Amino acid sequence: MSIRSKATTAVASAAAMTLFAGTALAASPGAPGAGDSYFPKYGNGGYDVSHYDIRLNYNPTGDQLSGTTTILAKATQDLTQFNLDFLLKVKSVRVNNAPASFVSDGGELVLTPKGGVRKGQDLTIVVSYADTPSAVKDSNGITPWTKTPDGALAIGEPEIASWWYPSNDHPTDKATFDVNVAVPNGVEAISNGVFLGQTRQINGWTRWHWRSTKPQATYLTFLTIGQFEIRQSTTPSGQPSVNAYSERLGENADAAKASIERTAEITEFLEQNVGPYPFEAQGGVATPNLGYALENQTRSVYDTAFFRRGANTYVVAHEVGHQWFGDSVSVHGWRDIWLNEGFASYMEFLWSEHIGEGTAQENADYTYDLYPADSPFWQILPGDPGPANVFDGAVYDRGALAVHALRVAVGDEKFFEILKTWTAEKKFSNATVEEFIAVAERVSGQQLDQLFQTWLFTKGKPAEAPGRAGEVAASLAAGPAVTKAAEPKSRAKIQLTHELLDAHK
Ligand SMILES: [Zn+2]
Repeated sequence: MSIRSKATTAVASAAAMTLFAGTALAASPGAPGAGDSYFPKYGNGGYDVSHYDIRLNYNPTGDQLSGTTTILAKATQDLTQFNLDFLLKVKSVRVNNAPASFVSDGGELVLTPKGGVRKGQDLTIVVSYADTPSAVKDSNGITPWTKTPDGALAIGEPEIASWWYPSNDHPTDKATFDVNVAVPNGVEAISNGVFLGQTRQINGWTRWHWRSTKPQATYLTFLTIGQFEIRQSTTPSGQPSVNAYSERLGENADAAKASIERTAEITEFLEQNVGPYPFEAQGGVATPNLGYALENQTRSVYDTAFFRRGANTYVVAHEVGHQWFGDSVSVHGWRDIWLNEGFASYMEFLWSEHIGEGTAQENADYTYDLYPADSPFWQILPGDPGPANVFDGAVYDRGALAVHALRVAVGDEKFFEILKTWTAEKKFSNATVEEFIAVAERVSGQQLDQLFQTWLFTKGKPAEAPGRAGEVAASLAAGPAVTKAAEPKSRAKIQLTHELLDAHK
């Protein structure tokens, strides 16, 4: 930002203070963070977003992104200024139709609307911008925006929005979305929710329209541009489905299709276990260049590597499981990541049992035995892993063991009642680990503090695998002939899935 713009900001702030001076209102700047204990700068305070209208042009040649994002929000306090999270070069900002001064400062776009903002006031914020996202780095020197040979991937957790649209970038401020992207004719642009169609423009470009009508977190809003085969259909449950396959999947293309085309079946199976599917559309995208998979709302994206040993429905069960655990019920803070990864990983165990490749118990036994007591694996606490370990393998594997320990303790009937109660009561909102424990105790009628203390909050390997049958435990104790549980048929694929997901740190 130029010195001249900074001077303008100072003048505008002074004007705002003058306005409020005579009214004795406690107007102040909105907080630069949403209060996340792991990532204090993520998100902002002082307003609540209800809708994003993202209208962009993207040219794969040169990675050129430009356009306008219109944000509908409501002020939650009297404000002299407030922040959006954004890293790209901004051309102009309007707040309620009036030009607002702005300063870009290390990922914070600080806006000073003329005359300030009153608590409860509706805000229409229009930000115009243009930049080369792959060249833009955050304060850690990284960019999650991936330039590919034929387009780009705007996909990332916990952060991606700042590389393609300005936002209140924290899962506690969900909103609905229209994503509207023009690309050169012959290029595909894929995002979340329902596909509203494409419009040919007069300049040799085509505009793609996507709409998410249910509350959606900023990091779960994605954009994938390139050469894709798109398959549209209607699921047996009547939902629109859009799957997309990069034309660069090579020999993994058929294995990817044999997995992702089963999304509706896997969704239906999980519905029986955890409650009604919360969203308005389904689908999946397979692409090279991502390196992991991410549960973007209604449409997960999978790296082609998940399918290098043939079809892998476990990664699909994991990401579809996230639609309930992570997308509909989102973390209150990133410390609560077990609510996402522990449960999504446990959905793989349920799917394994369903298709006859190893029961959840066999998977739990094998997982428990996989890590020796002196492994650093047991030093990470799934219930509070720390900001550097949010995606550590322990959050997934030990996290799934914690879920299984609950199932064993309360029995199947109460266990599935807990899951269904949780996804219903917390639908479209945010939650903490402590709130899950409270629901589990209320529904089961049991005191479960000790169980969760052991599996989520205590370093070291718990003394026993949860629910291991007595005879198995005895034969293992008799060792050394048998020292580990037998490997379930599903394990190799689950292992591959977790290795790739864990690589995303
Ligand atoms: Zn996951």
